[in-house]
Amino acid sequence: MSNKINCIGVLTSGGDAPGMNAAIRAVTRCAIYNGLKVMGIYRGYKGLVTDEIVEFKTQNVSNIIQQGGTILKTARCKEFMTPEGRAIAYENMKKHGIDALIIIGGDGSLTGARIFADEYDIPCIGLPGTIDNDLYGTDSTIGYDTALNTILECVDKIRDTATSHERLFFVEVMGRDAGFLALNGAIAAGAEAAIIPEFETEVDQLKELIQNGFRKSKNSSIVLVAESKDTGGAMHYAERVKKEYPDFDVRVSILGHLQRGGRPSAEDRILASRMGAASIEALLDGQRNVMIGIHEDEMVYVPFAKAIKKDKPIKEELVNVVRVLSI
Ligand code: ADP
Repeated sequence: MSNKINCIGVLTSGGDAPGMNAAIRAVTRCAIYNGLKVMGIYRGYKGLVTDEIVEFKTQNVSNIIQQGGTILKTARCKEFMTPEGRAIAYENMKKHGIDALIIIGGDGSLTGARIFADEYDIPCIGLPGTIDNDLYGTDSTIGYDTALNTILECVDKIRDTATSHERLFFVEVMGRDAGFLALNGAIAAGAEAAIIPEFETEVDQLKELIQNGFRKSKNSSIVLVAESKDTGGAMHYAERVKKEYPDFDVRVSILGHLQRGGRPSAEDRILASRMGAASIEALLDGQRNVMIGIHEDEMVYVPFAKAIKKDKPIKEELVNVVRVLSI
């Protein structure tokens, strides 16, 4: 491909996240501002393979900054995981004159981008779009703050009924093997504990909660559990309590997909707008195959390989805050 970029394609892929629309808007407007043509690709990589690609003008992204979800739709695409599928995607890109791609998605989507960029020498820039906050190199991801606020709203309501009935509630939140939503959700909601996959002390976590928290000073408790095969989820803990501590009145609430929806928070809109604009500036600056991140309020370029390596650290200090404040 020639080095000169005249036309970019933008897509949202994988799990949706509030703020993706704000990112699409920023990418589109910043590209047009810089004289680039913009093609909107529908349904993530699927639309690249099935040729669902249309030109986006500034008005295509009017009135969307406040909307949850993604106007470009999102999908998971098995074909793109094969060399044959990616060859079709490349042909469609060429057909529409697309020189570079902006991919808004989570770690699966960025993994796909990395492979595609290597195979066809296509400039790709990723934006971290996931409620899980599990991408390395950025302090936050687009959608995380909104999801956290949604969790907070739900847990506040659960607390009303938990207190009235003097119950122990296990509330399962999303996170896909990352404990950020559960841990910070627990701090913000004033929950008694967070069970997260980063710390595998299952027996101790439950025992400590029962003995030090619930039994001693509380008539009700809320524990946030990150959904993950490593934690086993909220049901697993409720079953254990029923068996091992039959005196407790235990309930489970799985928040599920409502965590993905809703109007993006101010923080997510600002994050998405800044990152979207930065993605175009990065491309024009000659950056290739990096994810845009914000670290300590500075824009950073994180190579795909680093962003997706799946070991974004959780601060011990946060774990401690939950523990100390739950007495
Ligand atoms: P997320 O981006 O939210 O992590 P997924 O893990 O479902 O979501 O990935 C979204 C899409 O990215 C997949 O459906 C697939 O099209 C593409 N993708 C993921 N992993 C790969 C891979 N190893 N090779 C090629 N494409 C991939």
